[in-house]
Amino acid sequence: MPELAEVEYFRKRWDAGLGEKIVAVQLHGEKRIFRGTDVRALERGLDRQTLLRSRARGKQMLFEFSCDNWLGIHLGMSGKLRLEAPKFHPARHDHLVLQQKKRALVFSDARQFGRVRFQHGKETPSWWEVSVPEIHSREFTKSSLREFVRRHARAPIKAVLLLQKGFPGVGNWMADEILWRARIAPRTRAGKLSVERLDAIWRATRFVAQASLQTIGQDFSDPPKSWLLHERWKAGGKCPRDGQPLRRATIGGRTTAWCPTCQK
Ligand SMILES: [Zn+2]
Repeated sequence: MPELAEVEYFRKRWDAGLGEKIVAVQLHGEKRIFRGTDVRALERGLDRQTLLRSRARGKQMLFEFSCDNWLGIHLGMSGKLRLEAPKFHPARHDHLVLQQKKRALVFSDARQFGRVRFQHGKETPSWWEVSVPEIHSREFTKSSLREFVRRHARAPIKAVLLLQKGFPGVGNWMADEILWRARIAPRTRAGKLSVERLDAIWRATRFVAQASLQTIGQDFSDPPKSWLLHERWKAGGKCPRDGQPLRRATIGGRTTAWCPTCQK
């Protein structure tokens, strides 16, 4: 599932089309990814408009078009953005294709847990959540993290890290990486963590966010071999620090991997 850096990577795929007009819109309007969206308004709203800029926040992307037209995309489990040649014919999973003169901007989603939204209006759309500090921004502070974690004191820390209202962009692999770096067992009740341990989570969150944006977010290259990420799904995966076999269990509804010796 795409997390912070993967979302950033896919957002940039459409950069080639910035400053250029959409000459045709093709979509599979009956598909689940358009639920709650007026697809006719989307088609009319984007046709003949220019792609001006785009942003990502957590797992959401926002594409701004001329004349106050906004396109929101959430990649869900399997969504991808890519470019194709002009006059490209959409395949089965290419649910939204914005044709430009020199290329086609394609959104595909085989499993359809993603979402496409549209809004026309001067203001940024109401569904574009800006009140939550991004984990790689200055507004994401030790004290904002403490306050958020305290509000979820009874939950296992792994489940708290997956909450988009506190850790936008963090998904399953990032949460495991952060806890492994902070040396905290994923089942630990959030309310039991000392200030020092919460600060360790803050440092690890910032590190994982920034370092993954610089690798995956740039060109989908792998983060360094020393990361837990590379061992998580391997049969017989080992802790990169001490070689201990990793443990796995479902925590916070997701398969979690951790090192039983490093993470207490
Ligand atoms: Zn270990």
